[in-house]
Amino acid sequence: MTTNVTYNLYYDISAVLLNSVFIILLFFRKKVKGRRDWVFMSLIIFMLLSAVMEIGTSMIRNGDWVVSNGTRTVVTALAHYFHNSIEFLVFLYVLQIFGVLRHRKGLLLIIVWIPQMLLSVFLIVPSLRQGIFYYDTNGAYVHGYLYFYFYYSIIGIYAAFGIIALYLYRNRISKKQFALINLFAICMILSIYAEVEPHMRITILLQSLCLLVCYVGLENDSEVIDNETGLLSRYALWSEAALLYESRFNTYVVSIHLRNFPYYSRMLGSRLTTELLRTMGNWLAHFSGGKASVYYPSRGTYTLLLYEYEKEAALEVAERVRSRFASPWIARGTSVTFQTSVKVTGIPNQIKNEDQLFAFIENHDPARFSTGEVSFIDEVRTDQRNGQIEAAVQKALDENRLEVYFQPIHDVASGRIRSCEALVRLKDPDMGYISPEEFIRVAEHAGQIGQIGEVVFENVCRFLHDNKPERYGLEFVEVNLSTLQCMDNSLTEQIQNLMKKYEIRPGQINLEITESAVVYNASVMKQVMDNLRQLGLSFSLDDFGTGNANYSYIMNYPFDLIKVDKSFLWAANEKGDNRVILDNMLQLIQGLNRKAVVEGVETEAQRDYLTRRGVDYLQGFYYSKPIPGAQFIEFLAHTNGASEMIEMKDTVAVNTVTEESDIVAVNA
Ligand code: C2E
Ligand code: CA
Ligand code: CA
Repeated sequence: MTTNVTYNLYYDISAVLLNSVFIILLFFRKKVKGRRDWVFMSLIIFMLLSAVMEIGTSMIRNGDWVVSNGTRTVVTALAHYFHNSIEFLVFLYVLQIFGVLRHRKGLLLIIVWIPQMLLSVFLIVPSLRQGIFYYDTNGAYVHGYLYFYFYYSIIGIYAAFGIIALYLYRNRISKKQFALINLFAICMILSIYAEVEPHMRITILLQSLCLLVCYVGLENDSEVIDNETGLLSRYALWSEAALLYESRFNTYVVSIHLRNFPYYSRMLGSRLTTELLRTMGNWLAHFSGGKASVYYPSRGTYTLLLYEYEKEAALEVAERVRSRFASPWIARGTSVTFQTSVKVTGIPNQIKNEDQLFAFIENHDPARFSTGEVSFIDEVRTDQRNGQIEAAVQKALDENRLEVYFQPIHDVASGRIRSCEALVRLKDPDMGYISPEEFIRVAEHAGQIGQIGEVVFENVCRFLHDNKPERYGLEFVEVNLSTLQCMDNSLTEQIQNLMKKYEIRPGQINLEITESAVVYNASVMKQVMDNLRQLGLSFSLDDFGTGNANYSYIMNYPFDLIKVDKSFLWAANEKGDNRVILDNMLQLIQGLNRKAVVEGVETEAQRDYLTRRGVDYLQGFYYSKPIPGAQFIEFLAHTNGASEMIEMKDTVAVNTVTEESDIVAVNA
């Protein structure tokens, strides 16, 4: 098949430009590279080289570039090689999306590589190459007798592999991904038909455009990349983990938790914090020679996935991480040493589902994880404890044994108790007291949180209805909402029904929402808050300073009270200069015209200090621990005095104070 027609170079030149820009963009993208990214990058590089080589062959054939026979053959062979490797790379990329190739070495890998190997062999060995193409005695390019059979077989084989993979693993990807991959494959195959008119040379440009579209659709960075660190996000870990349980190949998970992170991040400000986080993230991404994927699933916590590791090797990696984190990190001349706990576990031996994985990552119980050594977490222990807690919660729900305690909140201006916080209590006959900090998390994962929330809310309503604590000057009760509770559509209705049933006015309840819930899903949160506000309810922002939210963002939400997390008060106590952070937080809250609540007040010195700073409300053991309802009424009567009762004309005291000793602490 010889020809005298000139070849059009413009499409290939466009393809070179397009792919070059694409490569530069990808290279400077703030993301730590995983294998999938490398496959994708290779795909674009091959596309670029393919276009370059095609320009070379076109110029040779047009007579614009006079070269020796040898060079001509090499350039043409390379053009064939890069162009016909695209199908192979597309298939590898699809396998990466399914998470298949990470583990399954051996046979599958060999089968996948065979056609690609044959391609190289045929292009290198002269006698075989003759079957694909050659230049005749006039110097004209000729397709060999094998040309079509050979290339269409390769395309056919990879297309078949792709279809099989798509069919086998389709449940591993979302519907959107599935549709996009199909579309991508169809476009790639259709673009091959453009080769029917070879002088146009438009195929590579079409395929490059296909890749670009696929990139925009499939590699949506905002979902899988954490904005602050540029590392893989919580969502990315979640979807990756789902693939790992199925694969049944050993992966180790190393979790690195920076304990004093909230404290430092407030002290250093967001720019410096971000820089530090990135410095640490980069170190993590590179120290293992790229053999680990690095995730940033929650604030102050890094997670490494180590594929195809032995347990000893994984522990060694963890130990190296631990010892590096024991020395300071430096950004902009500021040196910071984090208190770090490092723990390791395995998938699928120790950890069998996403819930367990996140429980492992998020359990920072300082009593269990020391900072001086790496802990290996055995599935049995986590599993057993979580399972036991889940069972204990279920039993308590079934037997109606969950209790609600009340902790007074001191109003500095009036010196009285005008509000309190309702805190759930679980005492299991076998396990003893279980902290809500522990069981709320388990209950969220086990789907029990809605029921717990309902029980707590009903208890609070009943308490208000039966005891009428407003007689003693109590204005409202703060009720905690967990993050998942806030995401539940039925929450508003549940609250509305209970308030109606117990004749509760909206002003009597204030809902505490933690800062991390607002960050977790801002749009849902806003919707839920709007709905609840229509019922007349108001809100407090709980655990201020520990979530990931920036101030201006938080201030867009209708929070009347801001509760500064107790860790800031306690940190300020340890060292005089740490007061700056607490002071700044308080100033900010006041500057924004919100009321500040500081919790965790345990000493007189703290009380005096906070009072001088003009804090509106104080909560803590200094005033009282959380106490049962009846005892709380006594506390109220004692602290706010009976004067209030006299002002109330026609109410009967339900639970009058009988014994002074019932009161836990009377410092108000
Ligand atoms: P939180 O909302 O930050 O609640 C304050 C916690 O600090 C309570 O712990 C309280 O007992 C404790 N606390 C208050 N003052 C002091 C103090 O001066 N010193 C010390 N050492 N601790 C103090 P608790 O009751 O163990 O609750 C822990 C967390 O569990 C709460 O943190 C809240 O996030 C969650 N929680 C508690 N009750 C509920 C509930 O009914 N629903 C939901 N969703 N979460 C709840
Ligand atoms: Ca709270
Ligand atoms: Ca709190």
